[in-house]
Amino acid sequence: MPITGECFCGQVSYQVDGRLRDARSCHCSRCRKAFSSQASAYALVEPSEFSWLSGEELLTSYVGSRGFGLRFCSKCGSTLCGIFNGVIHGVTLGCVNGDPEIEIGMHIFVGSKAAWEVLPDAVTQYHEQGPNNA
Ligand SMILES: [Zn+2]
Ligand SMILES: [Zn+2]
Repeated sequence: MPITGECFCGQVSYQVDGRLRDARSCHCSRCRKAFSSQASAYALVEPSEFSWLSGEELLTSYVGSRGFGLRFCSKCGSTLCGIFNGVIHGVTLGCVNGDPEIEIGMHIFVGSKAAWEVLPDAVTQYHEQGPNNA
């Protein structure tokens, strides 16, 4: 069964005909703002395996100076995916439906985590970026 995801209002949805990979959570101050959360929860996808099912016209984007950006639903504000130079790069795990059969394998930039966040000891932590920060 393909992996699917959708935004909070449900008008934007997508499908991944493949596996998610390199799931990570980044605790840097930029990701906290971008994900409106204590950290990002994000996994990479193969661009050829990703397709929008509905609501693509509702998407709006924010692209930073280095070509990396995020696309989000203009109706409800959910951030659905990351793009790099206009190409799909990964998906936000919060918008994935059900169990994508992947777990967050590393917590990165925990050195700059929010003062109010308490991280469990058991998770794999990197003070800055992890070994494969693709
Ligand atoms: Zn929405
Ligand atoms: Zn980050």
